[in-house]
Formats: sequence, structure tokens, C-alpha cells
Amino acid sequence: MSVLYQSTRDKSNQKTASQAILQGLAADGGLYVPVEFPSIDLDFERLKNSSYQEIATLILHAFFDDFSREEIEKMVDLAYGEKFDTKKIAPVKQVGNHFVLELFHGETIAFKDMALSILPHLMTASADKNAVSNEIVILTATSGDTGKAAMAGFADVPHTKIIVFYPKHGVSEIQERQMLTQKGKNVHVVGIEGNFDQAQTAVKTMFNDTDLHQKMLTAGKQFSSANSMNIGRLIPQVAYYVYAYAQLVSTGSIVSGQKINFSVPTGNFGNILAAYYAKKIGLPINRLICASNKNNVLTDFFKTGHYDKNREFYVTSSPSMDILVSSNLERLIFDLTNKSDEKTNHLLTALQTEGQYQITEEMREKLSDFVADWASEEQISKEIHQTFTDENYVLDPHTAVASHVYRQYTDKTPTIVVSTASPYKFPRVVVDALTESLSVDANDFELVKTLEKISRIPLPKAVKELEAAKGLHNTVVEVTQMQAEVERYLSLK
Ligand SMILES: *Cc1c(COP(=O)(O)O)cnc(C)c1O
Repeated sequence: MSVLYQSTRDKSNQKTASQAILQGLAADGGLYVPVEFPSIDLDFERLKNSSYQEIATLILHAFFDDFSREEIEKMVDLAYGEKFDTKKIAPVKQVGNHFVLELFHGETIAFKDMALSILPHLMTASADKNAVSNEIVILTATSGDTGKAAMAGFADVPHTKIIVFYPKHGVSEIQERQMLTQKGKNVHVVGIEGNFDQAQTAVKTMFNDTDLHQKMLTAGKQFSSANSMNIGRLIPQVAYYVYAYAQLVSTGSIVSGQKINFSVPTGNFGNILAAYYAKKIGLPINRLICASNKNNVLTDFFKTGHYDKNREFYVTSSPSMDILVSSNLERLIFDLTNKSDEKTNHLLTALQTEGQYQITEEMREKLSDFVADWASEEQISKEIHQTFTDENYVLDPHTAVASHVYRQYTDKTPTIVVSTASPYKFPRVVVDALTESLSVDANDFELVKTLEKISRIPLPKAVKELEAAKGLHNTVVEVTQMQAEVERYLSLK
């Protein structure tokens, strides 16, 4: 039986997996979700000995069943191989009384690599499957990590181009340098004078612009999205939750069937939604802990049922979570409404026009899978310091958010804190926290060396090569000029 995907805003809009992956966002503005979730045999007595590649193949083939097992295996092998610096791909470490799932062993040392190393393969295979000969143009807004990971994935992939917009003043020095040094004939990076939400809104507008769409077709091109709105980003992320659980069974830390918590540092709600999908296919999960930074719109939502983006936007030390509109929450809303496209449409339209919506009591009762809280800048810093002092483990600021929030919920359930970035990606915040001082004068590259001395964690290759790499991009535009920049780069008329 094949798994079909429907739009959260129009259930009659149904696609096969490959069509949904190609399209990214549905034409009606909705997000694709599985009509029915596949049933997967999660036998952990067997899975505890499986490799990451085997578990990824199991999950991906079950959800994306218009591809053959051989096709999926081939993509998985291309994606999760040499580019990762550990054979385990996503190792679980014990830190004190809890566990940390390290999702930063890929090329750009952040968790976006987990999905973005396989998405280009899914995308080109989807184009082949649907006899699409247009050039695929990936248009992406990034809060820092997606951009680099997407470019690394798509660089020089035939029949694709990729354009990335990032907030010029909202990413770390290392993050910016990673993007500006990206090689590849088909990549274009643009800084904007605005924040991530503005970039994401403008990208969504371009996706829904029928005139622009027509111009693209005339030029033999079509857009797709590498953002976590694309179902091809989301499903690969389900795999590491299953794999993490298998590792705990394998080490005897839990018995098969025992429930565990995951604490997830959350921004666009993609990572934690993948955990929720893992629960839906039968992974024994007790609570999903939704951890936010000072931009705590999701904490308020889970506590009150009121989503309100009309609030101050903060640039924090965990920039990849500086988000006020968490796009993937729409997929959860769709579930909470008992899969009503009409109600979902209604709520999300209110978000667009009024910047807020309130869910009903009945919907709120279904939120028991989740708990939510947030960490202040000071709490993040203390968490990094304390974890190193007590456990000799160095957290990046995003992971520190999840770690701090987890500690507020100490029940007896074994908990995995999901680690989304290497501390080397944010050396200033981490070194300042570890030394309890302010390293105002040092640049990120000097701080990387300081961090290496303090932590004794080997410097990842991705950072080592960065300092000497040549800057290849320097375009900066106003938010209002983003579309003009796209048309210019693609030579549209
Ligand atoms: C993207 C990102 C997040 C947030 O993940 P979402 O799927 O957007 O919720 C957290 N931490 C890091 C380091 C990230 O890059």
C-alpha cells in the first residue's frame, strides 16, 4: 500500500511522496503530511544491532514507498557515509544521569546535515520519477544552519540551483563564514537587512506568486524548498529518534518497550515534530520537551493554547532558534483539529492576518504528548558552565537550552537531550560561559583555539579548513529587494 501525502490546508490536494518532495510547500500554502502513517515493525531486540543506515532505510522506505528499497538504500549510502566524522553517524553519549544524542557529526557540524545530506538525492530522484526536466531551484531562508547545510548538499548537483537568504546581522561569525566560502557553480548566498522571519515570509510569498511561477516555467525552471516545510526534510529526521532508542536498548540503559523523554531545542518545530512522528509510528516516548530560548512563543502556546507572534524579537546566543513563526507547528495543528483542513486553514489565516490564534479546549487536551519551557541567556550560560564543571561535557548554546529545560522536568523517565550543534560552531558564547568572562577582543577563530585547549575535544575538520578558505559571496539586499535578486540571479524576464 502506498503512503500518500495531503496538504494541511486542502485534503483533496494529494500527492505521492516524490511529488510532495519535489514541490516542497503545497500550492495552497499548506504543508504535506501523510494521509495515513505507515505501520513499521519496531522490534528493538533486532534493531538494537542495526546501523544508522539500516534504520534510516527502514524508516524512509516505509514513508516514501514510491521509491524501491534499492533506490532508498543507494541514497542513504550516499548521504550517511564519509562526510560524517563518526561511523555511528548520530551517537548517544551518557552525560551524568541523562543522555545526549549528538546530531552534529556531519559536514557543517549542526543537525541540519542529518536531513540535508539526503534531500538533494531525494529531490533529483523525485524529478526523475516524475519525468520533470525543469531545473529545480531551491529557495531557502536560513536562521544560520540550514543555509550552509543545504548548499553543501546541493553544491554542483546537476539540474539544480540553490539560493540562500540569511539575516546579515543575525548569525555567528563561523556560520556566516561557512556560508560565504561555499563552493559550487549553482549556489548563491544573499545577506538581508532583516531577521529570519522576514526572510522566511518573503520566501513563502515568492513560492505562492503565480506570476513569478509562470516566469520560472517559461525559463524552464521550478522552485522547491529545502526548508523543514519539505516532507523530504522531515522524514529523514524520524530515523535518528528510532536509532537513539535502539542505542539505549543496546547498551542496556533501558529495556525494549520502556518509555523515554526527548528534550529538543526548538525553532521552526521541525526536529521535535519528527520526534512526534516517531511516537506516532510506535516509538515508546513519554514526553517531548519543547525547549525554547527567549523567543518563547512556543512555551506560551503549549501552556495557554494561544499562539501570538506579536512580541519583541530577540537576537540570542542560540540564533538558530530565533524564530517567532514556527512553520512546522502547522502539521501538529492539523492533527489537533482531527485533520480538519478547514480549521487549520482558519487558524493559520488568523496567524497571517492578526499574528495570533487561540486553539480550543478540545485541541489543548491533545497536547499531553508535550511539555514546554524556555531558557534565558543567563540560564544558557550557566548550563554550559555547570555541565562542563560537573560532567566534563561541553554543550553548544542550543543544546544548553534543551539541557536546562530538561532539568526543570526531572521525572524518573530516562531522558535524551537532543544536541543540535557542535560547541565549535558558537565558540564565543561557549568560551565566555566556560570562563565566566567576556572575550570581546578575540575573533571566533582565536576562540576556537581557546575552546580546544579548555575542552580537549578534537577540532572538527569543518572548522579547521574555514579560517583559510576564500570568501566567494558578498551580496547584501533589503528585504524588499529579495525577489528582484532572485530574478536577477536566474536571469528571468
Ligand atoms: C535549526 C536548528 C534548531 C531548531 O530546529 P527546528 O527543527 O527548526 O526546530 C536548533 N538548533 C540548531 C543548532 C539548529 O540549527
